[in-house]
Amino acid sequence: GVRVRFAPSPTGSLHIGGARTALFNYLFARANGGKFILRLEDTDFERHIEGAAQGIIESLRWLGLDWDEGPDKGGPAGPYRQSERLALYRREAERLVASGAAYFCYCTPEELAAEREEARKAGRVPRYSGRCRELTPAERAAKEAQGRKPAVRLRVPPDGQTVVEDLIRGTVVFENATLDDFIIMKSNGVPTYNFACVVDDVTMGVTHVIRAEEHLSNTPKQILVYRALGYPLPAFAHVPMILAPDRSKLSKRHGATGVEEFRSQGYLPEALFNYLALLGWSPGDEREILSREEIIREFSLAAVSKHAAIYDVQKLTWLNSQYINSVPLERLVELALPFMRAAGLIGAVLDPQQEDYVRKVLETVRSRARTLLELADMAAYFFRDDFGYDPKGVKKFFTAPGVAALLRKGREALAGVAVFGVAETEAAYRRLIEAEGISGGALIHPTRLALTGRTVGPGLFDIIALLGKERCLERLERAAS
Ligand code: GLU
Repeated sequence: GVRVRFAPSPTGSLHIGGARTALFNYLFARANGGKFILRLEDTDFERHIEGAAQGIIESLRWLGLDWDEGPDKGGPAGPYRQSERLALYRREAERLVASGAAYFCYCTPEELAAEREEARKAGRVPRYSGRCRELTPAERAAKEAQGRKPAVRLRVPPDGQTVVEDLIRGTVVFENATLDDFIIMKSNGVPTYNFACVVDDVTMGVTHVIRAEEHLSNTPKQILVYRALGYPLPAFAHVPMILAPDRSKLSKRHGATGVEEFRSQGYLPEALFNYLALLGWSPGDEREILSREEIIREFSLAAVSKHAAIYDVQKLTWLNSQYINSVPLERLVELALPFMRAAGLIGAVLDPQQEDYVRKVLETVRSRARTLLELADMAAYFFRDDFGYDPKGVKKFFTAPGVAALLRKGREALAGVAVFGVAETEAAYRRLIEAEGISGGALIHPTRLALTGRTVGPGLFDIIALLGKERCLERLERAAS
């Protein structure tokens, strides 16, 4: 069966690039009835950031990318943290040294730097010279006697080619002459990425390595490690880069790119999931809104583009507004509650009546909101009386002559409505408008401003009915005085 993995290094938070890689692995596993593995590549102790692994796990969970095996879940191929697998890498490296496929290298960082400098001066591409390739036992003993700790290097064929058959990019040929005998185990006993990754992918039974295109140049090295270890190759699929709209490298200046940022800005996991799927993959037609189930059903690596995907926050935001409008109301409530709490609109617990009110408010305001932050903002005046008035609205609607008197009349009209529904309150207002011989707007605009502090929003009578008589009368009184 299919087994794929997402293998983040806990050196920061989860960004859209990593999230998209994780998503494609997840989709491929689910589309093929396979297993999705989470593996933490946490052997770079210097770049390690405390809490990063937990943050990545939470972001993946929030996106709904559930894995079958992983550090938090266990599984038959564990442990799933590289820091807990060091003995395995050591064993495999020893095996390669014993077979002659790898060798101990005693060069110090200073010696290697000098070598690189020499190459640079001579205008050559810096490559390890292979100085320790053929050390005799006596030479090795002499180096060890100096207290040098060896690294382990793979013996790379000096010529020939290493060919990557990539499911997305096709055949990619690398000249071995461009590689050098790279380090697989550092002198401190910690494996390098290209070695640990292969040992893990083999021992975890990974059938398809789906990862970012930036790793394509690592793949020939990894293929050489597979061969040296005598293991069969998995299939490789390198997913295209994600670029900014101007085709430059995506960075902070292009706005939010971290999953956690999207979450706190009020993007829905449903929308981000949908959006990420379309970064490099398409269902083959014009559809842009696809449910998780549809995407899983239709996803295939063959349909993933080899061209860079362009990150477009406007499209994501558009998708988000579509989801805010189309998810079941119960789901919208669940998503919006934390934002409403953070905005101080509601308390920690709601009684059934408050819950019902929240539901009605969200149903009323949802169509205009692009994010959950906006949604909470648009809901604010339904929960708080202490709002200010939009200054432009004040200028336009509160300075007209006779407006205070008109608002009082509106207040009286509403006070007389017995059943305070949308139709009843609207009828009362229409009668007043007619009796006064004014345009509808002359009453409706200042009333909206009085009741909400804003000049735009949902239908006025929906607002009036929802706010209820008492609040409407109070707010009209406040605005008129
Ligand atoms: N730890 C590597 C990364 O985060 C994993 C690359 C791979 O999937 O092989 O880029």
